[in-house]
Amino acid sequence: MSGPASLSPAAHRLITSAVRDERVQQRYWAKVAKPQVPGYTCWPYIGSLHPKGHGRFWVGNVRTRRGPVDVCVIAHRFGFALAHGMETLDAVPVLAHACDEPSCQNPAHLIPSTWGENLEQWHRRRWSPGSPLRDTRGPGGRARAIRAALQNGEDLQSVLSAGRGVLDTNQLDLF
Ligand SMILES: [Zn+2]
Repeated sequence: MSGPASLSPAAHRLITSAVRDERVQQRYWAKVAKPQVPGYTCWPYIGSLHPKGHGRFWVGNVRTRRGPVDVCVIAHRFGFALAHGMETLDAVPVLAHACDEPSCQNPAHLIPSTWGENLEQWHRRRWSPGSPLRDTRGPGGRARAIRAALQNGEDLQSVLSAGRGVLDTNQLDLF
């Protein structure tokens, strides 16, 4: 589900019906946490994570000549389709995170974008002190740390700030 062009028609049909299927919706929301941390409005994915930190959601399987093939989608794209419909998602080449939290499922944090725009934003925000993009654990490491914290009941606030480099941590003292 990296883009409409990469989906086979059968996979697209499967996802389209999954978006309308209440049982699949429940399965999806069971993997989305809504932590109560002041100032933090992200909804991290606590299911399977891509190495780069995006959530992966198993939708089902399609039959092919070589047998059934699993269809996994990027979780926040599925969440966007739940909020806005599959047709809207089909028209969106890239779904960027305004919050820069790769596993975030909050539809309010997802902005339709293009590859070029997304790259430009990334370069710009990469230099903002305290940005999740500067996390020393990398996007995948950060998403896995957040998931582990939510699963184990650790203090999320300290896990969120644990990836700050020396420069970011000392930023407030400089002024
Ligand atoms: Zn977010």
